[in-house]
Amino acid sequence: MGNLVNLTLDDGIAVVRVDNPPVNALSHAVRAGLRDGLRAALNNPQTSAVVIFCAGRSFFSGADIREFGQRPQAPFLPDLISEIEAAPVPVIAAMHGNALGGGLEVALGAHYRVAVKGTRFGLPEVSLGLLPGAGGTQRLPRLFPAADAARLITGGKPVETHAALSLGLIDRIGSSNDACAEGVAFARELIAAGKEPRRVGSLPCNQLEPAELEAITAETAKAARGATAPLACLEAVKAAMTLPFGEGLKKERALFQDLMASDESKALIHAFFAERQVGKLPEAESVEPRAIRRVGVVGGGTMGAGIAVSALLSGLDVTLAERDEAAAAKAAASVGQMLGNAVDRGKLAGTQREAILAASFRTTTCFEDFAPADLVIEAVFESMDVKKDVFTRLDQVCRPGAILASNTSYLDLNAIAAMTSRPQDVIGLHFFSPAHVMRLLEVVVGAETAPDAVASGFALAKRLKKVAVRAGVCDGFIGNRILSHYSKAVYGMVLAGASPYAVDRALTGFGLAMGPFAVGDLAGLDIGWANRKRLARYRDPHELYPEFADRLCELGRFGRKSGRGFYIYEDGAGRARPDPEVEEIIAAERAAKGITPRSIGEKDIISRYMAAMVNEAARVVGDGIALRPLDVDVTLLNGYGFPRWRGGPMHYADTIGLDQILQDISRFHEEDPIFWQPAPLLERLAAEGRTFASLNT
Ligand code: NAD
Repeated sequence: MGNLVNLTLDDGIAVVRVDNPPVNALSHAVRAGLRDGLRAALNNPQTSAVVIFCAGRSFFSGADIREFGQRPQAPFLPDLISEIEAAPVPVIAAMHGNALGGGLEVALGAHYRVAVKGTRFGLPEVSLGLLPGAGGTQRLPRLFPAADAARLITGGKPVETHAALSLGLIDRIGSSNDACAEGVAFARELIAAGKEPRRVGSLPCNQLEPAELEAITAETAKAARGATAPLACLEAVKAAMTLPFGEGLKKERALFQDLMASDESKALIHAFFAERQVGKLPEAESVEPRAIRRVGVVGGGTMGAGIAVSALLSGLDVTLAERDEAAAAKAAASVGQMLGNAVDRGKLAGTQREAILAASFRTTTCFEDFAPADLVIEAVFESMDVKKDVFTRLDQVCRPGAILASNTSYLDLNAIAAMTSRPQDVIGLHFFSPAHVMRLLEVVVGAETAPDAVASGFALAKRLKKVAVRAGVCDGFIGNRILSHYSKAVYGMVLAGASPYAVDRALTGFGLAMGPFAVGDLAGLDIGWANRKRLARYRDPHELYPEFADRLCELGRFGRKSGRGFYIYEDGAGRARPDPEVEEIIAAERAAKGITPRSIGEKDIISRYMAAMVNEAARVVGDGIALRPLDVDVTLLNGYGFPRWRGGPMHYADTIGLDQILQDISRFHEEDPIFWQPAPLLERLAAEGRTFASLNT
């Protein structure tokens, strides 16, 4: 049974206790130990019930990620679970912490389930492009209402204890926090009542009405954005409803094997590991982050208010400075409203909101109030003069050792740091809008930023439940620099003949959350306009410059906020409608430039978009702005709506082949030799027959 599993027998009740810290992952050794423990318990004629329990902070929380990608070794989980289910005496799963993935499938193989309060139950396999392949798709709809089972499996989101009880997943919630004692007490009652094993596989499967199935299929396909695993999950649930149990298990296995071999699951597993590796920084390995409790925010507009809310929701103390009382009151109102929305979404109790606003949040117009702050984040207008003035003043009032951060999207952090007497304490913390929702935080490291300030940026991200990526200083850092480049490719396509609406359609078909023109409208077209004006003096005069976006801005069409941009938003619900006037503006520019429009198909739109993105990303890595290709992937996945199931642009490039990307670039080079120049790193890797992944060490 190994040293991870131990068996005790007390008064007829066998307890198989697993202890595989930290989260009782179902490694090969655990599976073998669990099987041996179960067999030893059942071989003892004294045993009249078996309780499966895990020590430490959780029940089985899923597969062992260290075994991902390796050939599985017997005992295989589906066989082990069938053996549990076949036991001749009642088997009780006694749960606490998490019962996730294979862990929940083990519990479904047991005959009865008890959990203590606060246990979470889920089948998150879909987030790795897989489905629960150890009977989960066949057993869950036999316990759960079929629609809830389908949603739990296709969505991968866990349910809490009370929902699990009311939906029939567990038999009871223990009154204490001791899952083992609850399991044993339940076992005694079952024995006393003469209860037999109740095998989930023998129960009839709950059914979905045809209309319900149709609605769930449509909902799943929409949320999947081109990914196949959620629909395969649904296929498996349908098999549970239509096939005998044994046949359903076979169907589940076949679907699972297909998914295991898919590019999609490789991409999702890459994304999972990339997010774990992205925080590994050579420079910050041996330093302690500085303690951050009190945060200052300068500017309470779109970003400043969102940053304040993010910090407040993480239990930090926030002082927000604005230019005058009126602006401060407006910022306070938007912070109050965002916290109110958190209450509406059930993320925060109403009383907590009141307590936060009363004790942890204040606005000011006076920078002196930043004196006690451990960190001040500047989020004022994107103007170097305004930022320089703010940092000069922060340097005067902040205590030694306080971190001074800028949320600038594009500007030179080193020039900002140079306004202070402490460039070692200056860092970029580039949040994404809405700052309290978006997971990405670029931690921008200046020429003189101290390693412990970098470590503090990463520690803050963790506290705010965000994923941090280290970026070097350049125009736009990692994400916005790449965005600026592929945006040029997108505008170039439109000037050459594609309609903005066709481009958005092709790219949402590829899996993007939104097309680039819809995103531009949402962010505000004036932002890109201001940036283009700022960069105009650096522009190559031979470069073909599309002007239609500037024309729209000159007409006051800034996107959603002004009701019109590339699309028209007039129906109150904010739905986007294409606008013939925009196509006329574009056509007029083509005519003025002597361009004969040509048709650009969906495939070509995607090739151009991806080639531009990958090419600039290769430059970003080659220039050392991103540490590794995986840092680019994490950035684009978490801040730019890149489809997770494609793994990020660098992973995607590896999947289709770097030679293919280079061929595309050289094809496009013939049309526009200034824009389409292959990145040296891309050329080198392709010549050496290597992948971007080979740099992810
Ligand atoms: P905004 O115009 O909504 O807010 C800026 C706020 O700063 C205003 O409320 C203004 O009153 C205040 N302000 C200006 N000067 C000030 C001063 N000297 N002292 C105190 N307050 C002052 O702008 P925003 O969209 O929140 O952008 C702020 C920063 O964040 C910019 O650097 C921008 O590039 C960056 N950013 C924006 C986004 C985005 O999507 N909006 C995303 C990431 C980063």
